[in-house]
Amino acid sequence: SDHALSYPEKPEAWNWRELYPGVAQVGQEVQSAEDSPQNGENITPAAYRGVEIADIGCGFGGLLFALSPLLPQTLILGLEIRSSVTEFVQEKIRALQGQARKGDPTSSTETETETATLTPYQNIACIRSNTMKFMPNYFGRGQLSKIFLCFPDPHFKHRKHKARIVSPTLAAEYAYALRVGGVVYTITDVEDLHRWMVDGFSANPLFRRLGEEELEGDECVRVMKAETEEGKKVERNGGTKWVACFQRLEDPPW
Ligand code: SAM
Repeated sequence: SDHALSYPEKPEAWNWRELYPGVAQVGQEVQSAEDSPQNGENITPAAYRGVEIADIGCGFGGLLFALSPLLPQTLILGLEIRSSVTEFVQEKIRALQGQARKGDPTSSTETETETATLTPYQNIACIRSNTMKFMPNYFGRGQLSKIFLCFPDPHFKHRKHKARIVSPTLAAEYAYALRVGGVVYTITDVEDLHRWMVDGFSANPLFRRLGEEELEGDECVRVMKAETEEGKKVERNGGTKWVACFQRLEDPPW
């Protein structure tokens, strides 16, 4: 239950260095825009060296492992509620980091590296968390450039709507954590849930749905369709994958 979950009172209180031991300056203010990490698309340079991508309900981590080499300078965090699944992902990350070190004997986690030379898989981590309750404890305002909601549990029975990963309250929390220009990526094989997510984000004036032409060539869309465990399962079963992405807009004037 949630009683057994440890979570930070606020993002600064969390031991980010433990999660990303090979990354310099993690969890710290960075001096200038030049020192700040590149997020691959130069949305807004972060004033804080922290996680920029969150995978909500990451399951067995397929998306994390695929995104890691695609965005090697960006810190990515998977959040998962099941402890055994979280441990599996954490162990796999350690194993991949170990393999990468063997392949490159000059790199080591003992000497932390500058961001420009992060060795493979040092930019990903996974924690156990109930994201329906504790998102703002992990992420500050405007910290994230991307949030992934990949095949969230559908709970399509009417009485279970409150258990869904998109609700007016949660959409507001995602808007808080996302920087202007940042994107929420959603994918599901349940059409009813797809509609629910589209309605939920469309009802929030801080989001705009991205058109198909705007998503063409977006590697993140390709990866969430092809590399998530659920995406692969739906592919095998010949199901449909419903994708919808929403961009964070400027706050409206008061
Ligand atoms: N995203 C992965 C994928 O696409 O392959 C896993 C999808 S799986 C159907 C949904 C995952 O969300 C499960 O691993 C489940 O344990 C996790 N989950 C459900 N509710 C959650 C919550 N409130 N906080 C964090 N994870 C949650």
